[in-house]
Amino acid sequence: MRKLLLSITLTLLALTYISAQNRQERERRIRFPNVPGYLTLKCDLHIHTVFSDGAVWPDIRVQEAQRDGLDAISLTEHLEYQPHKDDIPHADRNRSYEIAKKAAGDTALMIIRGSEITRDMPPGHNNAIFIEDANPLLQDDALDVFREAKRQGGFSYWNHPNWTAQKPDGMAELTDMHRQLIREGLLQGIEVVNELTYSDEALQIALDNNLTILATSDVHGLVDWLFEVPEGGHRPITLVFAEERSEAGIEAGLRAGRTVAWFNNTLIGKEENVMPLIEASLKVTESSYLGDTDVLTVMIENASDAA
Ligand code: ZN
Repeated sequence: MRKLLLSITLTLLALTYISAQNRQERERRIRFPNVPGYLTLKCDLHIHTVFSDGAVWPDIRVQEAQRDGLDAISLTEHLEYQPHKDDIPHADRNRSYEIAKKAAGDTALMIIRGSEITRDMPPGHNNAIFIEDANPLLQDDALDVFREAKRQGGFSYWNHPNWTAQKPDGMAELTDMHRQLIREGLLQGIEVVNELTYSDEALQIALDNNLTILATSDVHGLVDWLFEVPEGGHRPITLVFAEERSEAGIEAGLRAGRTVAWFNNTLIGKEENVMPLIEASLKVTESSYLGDTDVLTVMIENASDAA
């Protein structure tokens, strides 16, 4: 009898543990409601693995993204910076994408092919995504890389323009080369948020030059550790308003500038994008005057993770 009781207790304990774990995973999934006319897709479009200077295999990136409930990620390995190449030789710059694509299989997570163009300033670091083949992007002249990305139908954006390793004052500022890239239609977006930083100047550059606003994790280690997810933190993501849940839908949304950056629980973007998201997120569920007074009690429900 005692044995039976003990085993029932152990089973109950195990079940409690499993349900706590499930709840944790459910709560971890990032939630944002759709907005009128568009689906709100959660994207992290700047990530590294051991195929450049990251510390994990592409499978782990897929699993992290699935736990976060993301719709799409891009493993944007440095084209020109390959510190692990002696241990992990790979002549093909598409390998990280291919491994992640296989790991995602037929799950809902979309893997977008991308690469990081890794240069001194200017033009600094830039990502090209929606490319067809990363290998032809290995070119000497930086402008030629952007032209090749465009030829492949790619979407390019300037990474961490406030990065102090390349801009010691930490102030994002357009260079002549960036102006040329924008003029020639070779640069369509800018990271206003990268990893743990936000740049006011980058936001202004985006608004002044009609560049798409992006937030990315640029994660090299583990998402949980860098963004303190177990403590309630979250990775920075770009919310893309898309007409359909597909890569083409995300691409069209990015090209049209229909994005909101989510960073440190703050929503950053053009008013025309942020307002519909806030309106879709907040719902007044109850309102009544307090007794015979002019004081109104209002209950507001928030359907988003931005608090
Ligand atoms: Zn990067």
